[in-house]
Amino acid sequence: MRWNEFAEWGRKVSDWAVKYHEGLRDRPVRAQTAPGAIADALPAAPPDTAEPMQQIFADFESIVMPGITHWQHPRFFAYFPANAAPASVLAEYLVSTIAPQCMLWQTSPAATEMETVMLDWLRQSVGLPEGFAGVIQDSASSATLAAVLTMREKALGWDGNTSGLAGQTPLRIYCSREVHTSIDRAIWVSGIGEANLRRIPVTGENRGMDAAALDAAIREDVAAGFRPAGIIACIGGTGVGAMDDLTAVMPVAKAHGLYVHVDAAWAGAAMICPEFRHYWAGVEEADSVVFNPHKWLGAQFDCSAHFIRSPDDLVRTLAIQPEYLKTHGAEGIINYSEWSVPLGRRFRALKIWFLIRAYGLDGLRRMIRNHVAWSQALAERLRAEPDFEIVTEPVLSLFSFRYRRDGADPDALNLALVTAINNDGRIYLTQTRVDGDLVIRFQAGQFDATEDDVKLAGDVILEVARAMETPNA
Ligand SMILES: *Cc1c(COP(=O)(O)O)cnc(C)c1O
Repeated sequence: MRWNEFAEWGRKVSDWAVKYHEGLRDRPVRAQTAPGAIADALPAAPPDTAEPMQQIFADFESIVMPGITHWQHPRFFAYFPANAAPASVLAEYLVSTIAPQCMLWQTSPAATEMETVMLDWLRQSVGLPEGFAGVIQDSASSATLAAVLTMREKALGWDGNTSGLAGQTPLRIYCSREVHTSIDRAIWVSGIGEANLRRIPVTGENRGMDAAALDAAIREDVAAGFRPAGIIACIGGTGVGAMDDLTAVMPVAKAHGLYVHVDAAWAGAAMICPEFRHYWAGVEEADSVVFNPHKWLGAQFDCSAHFIRSPDDLVRTLAIQPEYLKTHGAEGIINYSEWSVPLGRRFRALKIWFLIRAYGLDGLRRMIRNHVAWSQALAERLRAEPDFEIVTEPVLSLFSFRYRRDGADPDALNLALVTAINNDGRIYLTQTRVDGDLVIRFQAGQFDATEDDVKLAGDVILEVARAMETPNA
């Protein structure tokens, strides 16, 4: 395969992509394959001789596609969305064609300068004040790791990278019980250790961190000889959308001089709508904020927007400059590889540029407002059914519910229901636990979803539940 054949295959792939999207509603959302089936269909050893593209493409359709869970299916209501709007797909196509390595300004000035401007567009779009600088990280997990490393270095007087953690006063980091597992992993990888991550109880309907308990925990740790290093706040927890009250958390952080990182990976996209910004009131005071345009907004994976108040602290934590990476003769430039853990970087800003221009902020706001309204209507419909209960109220477009049946163990019944729904294939839902109980989550967020898709989700939930046999408890 050479570039002279590319146009023909490029056209075939484009036609295939359009047909794929048009036909998605006829496919089961979640892959219906058994474990091992796809691996068994692949040759165990690589070919020695070149194969024709025709054959490779045919195998892609027959072997790979049955094993795909369709995240771009308009009736994908599981986890959180991972949208890939067509305009952003085009940008990625261009990027994979040019394939620049954007680790330094001089290794593609357009990528660096586009990133600076696009992150400022995003900052304005979600209503963060001036004074936050932005960088694109490959994932929210990486942004959180970068923030935790910064907390560590600041707390250790910039000595952690040099001396390691052995012999240092043990650090402490604080978060609620509702945070994502990427927080645990950042704590492990940074060497701080899970035992030094204090999980503060949550209070109220929003399941936010109890600020008084946070303050008490910090005081207790200081008295016991630990060194508090930072707080990780959660805006839109992954389970049921927990929201810390930043107006209560920030004063505690200020009083103890602690660095605050806000994880708004999913919910941050909704902040392009001013009416939802009450959820993260107080965020202006944070040191670091991450949200994922690669979830709800429509820039496909990977694209995490990481805003920091003091890039100097981040760069002091992560920058390393051997001679071969130095840029001579250009003052005032940014080398974004000094702002993140990996050195190599893709040109990710282009898809933000295409996305925002192709749909406009108004178009993206309309999408998010629709998802929120449709999801809330579905919650009301389920609430009105005598054998369903809403367990956690809608937070933006996310709520959780439970099905009840006399004589059935509730956890087994709801696990059987979510399994039966996903085997049916018309919609896709996932489960979580709330205070120990198994519940079913619903979130609307797919780029092409319509009101009818969400209504059909309600039909499927009720129909499958009532057709289901009672599982053995
Ligand atoms: C999805 C999610 C993450 C992880 O995001 P990645 O970009 O996949 O690392 C972290 N926190 C929250 C709240 C999330 O919803």
